[in-house]
Amino acid sequence: MQYKLDKPIHGAIGTDKYQVTIEWRNGTFVADEPVSSGGKDTGPDPYTLLLSSLATCTLVTLRMYIDRKGWDVPGITVNANMFQAKKDDVITHVFDRDIQFSGELTPEQKDRLLEIAAACPVSKILEGNVKVRNFLFRDEDTEKKLNYTNGDVTVVWKPEFCKHSGRCVTQLPLVFNLQQRPWVNMSGADSERILEQVKRCPTGALTAFHNNDEEAKA
Ligand code: SF4
Repeated sequence: MQYKLDKPIHGAIGTDKYQVTIEWRNGTFVADEPVSSGGKDTGPDPYTLLLSSLATCTLVTLRMYIDRKGWDVPGITVNANMFQAKKDDVITHVFDRDIQFSGELTPEQKDRLLEIAAACPVSKILEGNVKVRNFLFRDEDTEKKLNYTNGDVTVVWKPEFCKHSGRCVTQLPLVFNLQQRPWVNMSGADSERILEQVKRCPTGALTAFHNNDEEAKA
């Protein structure tokens, strides 16, 4: 399992209706809801963000293809919008993408570019098999806990909380490996890398502490 983003986007909301701060790898931006939905319209709403993703992916994909072909197209525009269609109680979300090119293109070239747009990665995601997984972080204590240590740090695993996201075993298999016993091999990486991986557990099933800190508390 290889995530698309090295660092996940991070969204947060407080009590200010409905301003959301999104942190991405190179900065932050604000999203919101329109006034008609109780927000202040200080940033794009979720549907606008979704359509922006489609428009951006379309434009970048087309630009890459056109540049590779060496065609003279100084500008491309996309208008994107969506609606819901209901037939026999089945709701279909329909995305419309209106594309225009400036420059001289033959009808055949335009047809080819339409095919390229239709196959952009975000189009494929929207039209493909999609699954949304949800993980809740839990910081409660549990009775069943298993400890693994390398003498420097200790990893604590709470099996009841593990929802098998696969993050630990795919991202640090030399330490977290279900085929070996114990399944946590504390010699597989240095302490800092192990601690970093533990922080990526989305459910709280994995936690860790420096042994020195615990000894100091005792
Ligand atoms: S990252 Fe956490 S929830 Fe996911 S498999 Fe590992 S222990 Fe379980």
